Amino acid sequence: MRDAMLEQVDRQLMSGFRWLRFYPAIEAVYLKEFAAARVRIVHVWAIVGTLIYDMVWVGDATMVPDVLPHLIVARFAIFTPFALLATLAIRKWPSPRNYDILSLCVVVLGALLPMAVAVFSTSPHLFVYQNGNVLVFLFLVIGLRPRFFATLLGLALLVGIQLTTTKLNGTLDAVTYQALISFYGTVSIFLALGAYFQEHSERLNFLNRLRGTLLHQQLEQHSEQDELTGLLNRRSLARIAGAMWTKADSDTSVYAIMLDIDSFKLFNDVHGHIEGDTCIRAVSQCIERTVANQGTTFRFGGEEILVLVSRIEKEEAMALAERIRHAIEAQKIPHSGTSGVVTASLGVAGGLTRHVSLEGLLKLADAALYEAKHLGRNRVALLDSELQSA
Ligand code: GH3
Ligand code: MG
Ligand code: MG
Repeated sequence: MRDAMLEQVDRQLMSGFRWLRFYPAIEAVYLKEFAAARVRIVHVWAIVGTLIYDMVWVGDATMVPDVLPHLIVARFAIFTPFALLATLAIRKWPSPRNYDILSLCVVVLGALLPMAVAVFSTSPHLFVYQNGNVLVFLFLVIGLRPRFFATLLGLALLVGIQLTTTKLNGTLDAVTYQALISFYGTVSIFLALGAYFQEHSERLNFLNRLRGTLLHQQLEQHSEQDELTGLLNRRSLARIAGAMWTKADSDTSVYAIMLDIDSFKLFNDVHGHIEGDTCIRAVSQCIERTVANQGTTFRFGGEEILVLVSRIEKEEAMALAERIRHAIEAQKIPHSGTSGVVTASLGVAGGLTRHVSLEGLLKLADAALYEAKHLGRNRVALLDSELQSA
């Protein structure tokens, strides 16, 4: 899963993303991060934006005093509660789509309210007054930063509002109106380009970060995985056992099952090293299947496998070891040793975590394994810490 994702990230980096869209699996991760990042700061923009927006009533009073009462209602009674509710809604339902939609609603309402009221103004300062709306354009692109296509739609709506309401007001002469069209057209194109490159670099950063994280995880996993068998290797043992001992309360039992393939030197001598490797792999997989999620399986050494199990009784540990022994024998891998098939001997040792350390447990399991070999191989022997100290 992680390796497939890493491969996709590499392919994405090679092929690029001109349309600001990743492959679906990567896009899903990106959007989650996008929403989380925007939601984290949306209240800052909401407070700063609304404060500035409301303070502009001073400009209303000086530039368009003839429509001031309506503007005060628009700013304080309509826009401010709407913006604050929209912010709360974004924080409560933080999806990218909600963020885009609510951001657009806020800026469209923010531009539309004063401009709609200003349609009815006959103030000679209207030209200067309505250019204050450039701040709303900037707030959309620099502050709220919805996704690019939402930004594009927002800019188009803002230009539409600006030019339509100015036209409806009708006090600007044709030349000034033409100048406004080119001004807002140019501002929008610049802002749209800026928004595109901003999202592009945000996405590129995200891809590089994701690649770094995935590579790190892959390296970590490889450094703890045995190449031949795919089992955990000995390096991972200290970490995993450490976690087992830390998590355990004082009377948690822990069992180690140490397994060694019988007469394996002979197997190598007869079948060769390559076949020997195949045999170790088959035995390892058989053990992993049998243990399933009852415990954790490690390749401890050459043809020695260790299984660690916690929170079980002695009888369960012995039964598991017996099931493993039987499963290996039942694979019937031909061997010229005494039983004609590949078999293994197992040493089982256990104790309470407060009585025994990992090292102590492994020593006991090794001693039990020696006992199993000594008693004739293809069998399970047990030693536990209480037994030992008795
Ligand atoms: P015993 O029943 O007492 O365990 O006898 P044994 O012959 O299996 O003795 P021992 O466990 O000491 O020998 C292990 C042999 O396993 C020695 C080594 O050649 C072989 N071996 C260890 N690692 C590998 C490996 O990765 N691949 C192969 N093919 N052989 C290995
Ligand atoms: Mg051995
Ligand atoms: Mg052996």
